[in-house]
Amino acid sequence: ESGLLKDIIAHAKEYGFVYPSSEIYDGLQAVYDYGPYGVELKNNLKRLWWESMTRLNGNIVGLDASIFMHPTTWKASGHVDSFNDPMVDNKDSKKRYRADVLIEEKAAGYENEGNQEKANSLLATMGRLLEAEDFSALRELLIEEDIKCPVSGTTNWTEIRQFNLMFSTQVGSVSEDSNTIYLRPETAQGIFVNFLNVQKTARMKIPFGIAQIGKAFRNEIVARQFIFRMREFEQMEMQFFVRPGTELEWYKHWADTRMSWHKALGIPEEKLRRHDHEKLAHYANAALDIEYQFPFGFKEVEGIHSRTDFDLKAHQEFSKKKQQYFDPEINQNYIPYVVETSIGADRLFLMTLCNAFTTQEVEGKSRAYLALHPALAPVKAAILPLTKKDGLPDKGKAIFDQLKYDFNIIYEEAGSIGKRYTRQDLIGTPFCIAVDHQTLEDDTVTIRHRDTTGQERVPIADLQGRLAAACSF
Ligand code: ATP
Repeated sequence: ESGLLKDIIAHAKEYGFVYPSSEIYDGLQAVYDYGPYGVELKNNLKRLWWESMTRLNGNIVGLDASIFMHPTTWKASGHVDSFNDPMVDNKDSKKRYRADVLIEEKAAGYENEGNQEKANSLLATMGRLLEAEDFSALRELLIEEDIKCPVSGTTNWTEIRQFNLMFSTQVGSVSEDSNTIYLRPETAQGIFVNFLNVQKTARMKIPFGIAQIGKAFRNEIVARQFIFRMREFEQMEMQFFVRPGTELEWYKHWADTRMSWHKALGIPEEKLRRHDHEKLAHYANAALDIEYQFPFGFKEVEGIHSRTDFDLKAHQEFSKKKQQYFDPEINQNYIPYVVETSIGADRLFLMTLCNAFTTQEVEGKSRAYLALHPALAPVKAAILPLTKKDGLPDKGKAIFDQLKYDFNIIYEEAGSIGKRYTRQDLIGTPFCIAVDHQTLEDDTVTIRHRDTTGQERVPIADLQGRLAAACSF
């Protein structure tokens, strides 16, 4: 892992954002827990996504479907038969890898050397072999391309095997095959099976969308890069149902809208990239990823997929229940086409953290802070009495009580004011509100700004309005 990523992981743990799961038992690979500031930041991101989907679009409504679903769901969706990754082991190190990821990394290497053509041709060959499920040729490709195990340094690869990523468990007390159910590997299917419920009960007219935030589970073979790829994670998905033939217009609309959303969040344009898929999944007629330049390279944060009528048609076939919509404008029944936007809350979190993590040299000393937009910051303001004497704590607590109903703020009186500022910088608090002797006389406080460390004098009466203005987009 790169030095920068290591610093970010250490920062996330040290300052209460993300811990390894069950750490006292040495952790569980690819599973993480969010600490006090992490859960606030993640909730802020989820709320922002939710509101920009449902509130800003009169034709998008929400849903909260269960993690467990009828097992036939996953037959219909294709996950039982084809939600596989090609897995390969190195005979010397006994380490396991995803063959496609090893090849993608090789291609990224060619790209970095400026050899775009070679990168493209390698990816195209891999795509062809995966499609044809020709795993012995895929293994030969690993050897031909001299792709070495990072641990042993050899190309001594085993056969490549298909590995299904779904976790299964049993319902009830008897473990029979018929009782096997899955932990959902994506939230989308909960939306598809509820398509008619939502359409009828919320009286939606096409085009309309259904948004959902929820946990998803994948038994990822290689879990690396911190919370980028986890076995339990959260997805934020929106399925947009459209009239067949209009899907590519809507695909373009959502690709543009989502890209603008990331920029509005404060992600610099040059760190974002759109990657159009050449090789399409069996259900899609167009697909792209929005990628962010993580410390380990440009990687997918969000996927936009034109899924055609693949899912609804499959559910109609397997359930024998019509999944059609009557379109009064054209007097026709049809199975709608679907354009999906799918983003991982945890990847969005990691992108936000990487983007905010800032180190500076100030007068020979290094200063670190999280340059989070105030709307995203876990704590909006810290109320800090200069000393514990002379009634300053009481004054500070009164300000705290006045603001706490509208903002997540904290009150802290222990330690030097400089140390308290530093601590707030490290968790990304945009404003420190210092209460001093002058406050007792004229009801003004000092606001100290995180990014500039600049200070200004402000009446207490203005704090509410100032915070509200700063904490909105
Ligand atoms: P990848 O190629 O990285 O495995 P994917 O193409 O399988 O991802 P999708 O199935 O399109 O991903 O899932 C949509 C989004 O869900 C992704 O863009 C990502 O943000 C998130 N996501 C998928 N898998 C994981 C995971 N294991 N951990 C965290 N987030 C994930």
